[in-house]
Amino acid sequence: MGHMLESLLPQVDEFVALRREIHRFPELAFSEHRTSELVATRLAGWGYEVHRGLGGTGVVGQLRRGSSSRSLGLRADMDALPIAEASGRPWASACAGLMHACGHDGHTAMLLAAASYIARSVEFDGTLNLIFQPAEEGAGGAVKMMEDGLFERFPCDAVFAMHNMPGVPQGHLWLREGASMASSDDVTITLHGTGGHGAMPHRAADPVVAAASLVMALQTVVSRNVDPLQAAVVTVGALNAGKANNVIPAQASLELSVRALDRGVRQHLRERIHALAQAQAESFSVRAEVNWREGYAVLVNTPAETALAADVAEQLAGPARVNRQAPPLTASEDFAFMLEKVPGCYLLIGNGDGSDGNAAGACMVHNPGYDFNDDNVAVGAAYWSLLVQRFLQPAARLAIGS
Ligand SMILES: [Zn+2]
Ligand SMILES: [Zn+2]
Repeated sequence: MGHMLESLLPQVDEFVALRREIHRFPELAFSEHRTSELVATRLAGWGYEVHRGLGGTGVVGQLRRGSSSRSLGLRADMDALPIAEASGRPWASACAGLMHACGHDGHTAMLLAAASYIARSVEFDGTLNLIFQPAEEGAGGAVKMMEDGLFERFPCDAVFAMHNMPGVPQGHLWLREGASMASSDDVTITLHGTGGHGAMPHRAADPVVAAASLVMALQTVVSRNVDPLQAAVVTVGALNAGKANNVIPAQASLELSVRALDRGVRQHLRERIHALAQAQAESFSVRAEVNWREGYAVLVNTPAETALAADVAEQLAGPARVNRQAPPLTASEDFAFMLEKVPGCYLLIGNGDGSDGNAAGACMVHNPGYDFNDDNVAVGAAYWSLLVQRFLQPAARLAIGS
């Protein structure tokens, strides 16, 4: 373990306690008032220039040093989920039905721990922007902050983020260049038929049979239309039609989750799903209406920034604990939108695989038994601190090539 980690360890207890405090008071998307207040107050106390109200509850803490025009953005998310916690932890949620089940409490605490350490102990030349984002869980807080001028008001040469990952050994750091997380689109297909008596199907246009056929036809998009070497997901998660056995309903609807790891594949999926819905409907004499709602974009890590993040990770944790060729995930993340505007890298930090005796660490995110692994507060903060030191290296040091 690196020198940075050792020097951070003495102050880490304070931030583990802070993580647990944030955990006790989870807040849903755009309602992170308490968390946002806590973040802003702490940052101001350490000498950061604090800007509030970006994307509603978003906070940017800025620290400038030296004369360099280089600038760096580090992002953490703050929101929780509508899940009733069952972790059994002493610091479990005090708010019924709400829970930090994705570890955003930990992400916030790691970046705060880094903020405190950097302000006190890290030499750098340039501008550091710490971005505390609301509403990562589906509501697109990243976009809201960008609509409020995030990168115009706080320009960044590069932007980085980190997410914990259960199942990966605690403190291991995983990343990959290029597409790392999938785009995610929500689609509703409504089939409009003609209702009628179940005894006289020839006098109706049955949307139930058309829907059943369409569910099966949609399975061929991934298996027959997408290049087998590309990844794609078409999940029909809901199929709703009818109420009684002797009534042919007038409508049936399908709810789809559509994901891809490539912008071209994403577009292809859209075209094929539209075409299949129309053709299938026509073959059953019903009409298809497709409502496509674009969700998060494909998350693409840029080469130079990914190489730097990997080098920093290796310097911190040693090569044995770093996977530079981590597999991509079909989950989604709105940090993808920031990476569409600014180069950067998104990295995973292992939340544990159970081998350290911490079963909650290996429990998957969005599960009621999940908990963020507090051993990562120091590792995450050290990664951020080292990244700042490397990216905003003082010119004198650059010149001698350290
Ligand atoms: Zn989540
Ligand atoms: Zn998350």
